[in-house]
Amino acid sequence: MTLIDRLLNLYRVESQLRALQARLDGAERYLGAQNRLLEGLQSERAELTTRKKQLQATIGNQESEIAGIDERLAKLRDELNSAATNKQYNALLSEVNVAKEERGKIEDQMLQHMEQSEELDQKLSDLSAQIEEREKVRALAEQQLEERKADVGERLAELQTQRDAASSDIPDDVMYTFNELSNNYDGEVMASVEEISKRHREYACGECNMQMPFEAVSQLRNAGDAVVRCPACTRILYIAEQHSETLAKH
Ligand SMILES: [Zn+2]
Repeated sequence: MTLIDRLLNLYRVESQLRALQARLDGAERYLGAQNRLLEGLQSERAELTTRKKQLQATIGNQESEIAGIDERLAKLRDELNSAATNKQYNALLSEVNVAKEERGKIEDQMLQHMEQSEELDQKLSDLSAQIEEREKVRALAEQQLEERKADVGERLAELQTQRDAASSDIPDDVMYTFNELSNNYDGEVMASVEEISKRHREYACGECNMQMPFEAVSQLRNAGDAVVRCPACTRILYIAEQHSETLAKH
């Protein structure tokens, strides 16, 4: 096998490996997205729960304030009934009115807070329903990922072994180039030389479609075990079998 044949072999294994890995990555990304959505809902629920507790504490304070005023009012009414003079009576009456007014204000605020508290209850119950739904979706995503892992795990290990074998007889510097290209182009390391016009000796890179000088093609034909790369996209070039005869005639 020539170096190019060995590289093509490695390229095929690499492509399959990347495709399988992509299936796992997709399931992992999906699960990650579900986790983030769920965390968002949960933190919103925690925030609303804290607000609800604060509101309840405020309502509790207002209830005891009102109870305090009611106590005072009862006392004032007793005093009012036993008022000895008109002046005393009027003074007590105006105290009653002030206390009543204060009670009314606090009660209004308390009612507003109670309304807010009910709204929060509604939001919290909606959120809990959403969280429950999201948890189901997350559980499915988790299951899907596990299934895919089980599905492809064996094949992945097989391909990794094949990849190790296929790369074992490739020189280090070529391997370095191969890996670099594989990372840059998501596994699309190799490009075939496409014939555009035989008569005009026009050829192009099969991946990036840039026309390439005939020298590059003839260099590739005579390369032996040297690697020739596309001048534009730098992928490793090879001559596809259907062209190899035609190209050999030049
Ligand atoms: Zn190219």
